[in-house]
Amino acid sequence: MTATKALIIPAAGSGSRMQKEIPKPYLEVKSRTILERTIRVFLPLDSLRQIIVATSEWYLDRARGILETMLPDHITGQVVAGGQQRQDSIRNALRVTGDVTLVLVHDAVRPFVKLEHIEACCRAASETGAAALGIPSRDTIKRIDGRRLVLDTPSRATMWQAQTPQVFKKPLLVEAYERAAADQFTGTDDASLVERMGRPVRMIEGDRSNIKLTYPVDLELAALMIDKTEG
Ligand code: C5P
Repeated sequence: MTATKALIIPAAGSGSRMQKEIPKPYLEVKSRTILERTIRVFLPLDSLRQIIVATSEWYLDRARGILETMLPDHITGQVVAGGQQRQDSIRNALRVTGDVTLVLVHDAVRPFVKLEHIEACCRAASETGAAALGIPSRDTIKRIDGRRLVLDTPSRATMWQAQTPQVFKKPLLVEAYERAAADQFTGTDDASLVERMGRPVRMIEGDRSNIKLTYPVDLELAALMIDKTEG
């Protein structure tokens, strides 16, 4: 039997790096919001029961409207208020997840993720407990100190860039979030909260099209990528 799933979509970022008033998930590319484009990829996922969007309080109604028009009957949609940090937004969403086996976390601003890669992460998380999509680093990575002097250069062969989705067995993610809160630890992704418990996280190789729309130029790139696939 396939594992039941809840999807958390953090969409509560301010969009300051995009230099726009409207937060990134609600910007339209080719007359559809980025959030709608992201949600659409996940709809065919087997045994997906719940989609929870965490968003800023000014966009709660907008997010509800999007879920209402998009979700089929077998998927429940919920919207929660986001928090100061991405991790706070996800913690708020995690509280309302139902009785599911796996929880997926996927950034609202990564609309180009592929269903086959989402499925591969879910399979790996069912075996290992936790899995994250990523790609081998194209660049050499330097570790630096506060004065920007290089401390060391880890072997590039061992360096991967983490993307989303990141997928977890629900009890493991709940425990990781509880421990992070108790220790006042803030990570830049969800897998790092599991790693610090000494639990394994499997990396699944995705592709470079799963970009995080972050800077204004990314929107132009997104429009080109959509032109190519949708014509
Ligand atoms: O912060 P970053 O650019 O990595 O954002 C990744 C995702 O997390 C975005 O979809 C953004 O909307 C979301 N986010 C959030 N709550 C915050 C900050 C970011 O849900 N406080």
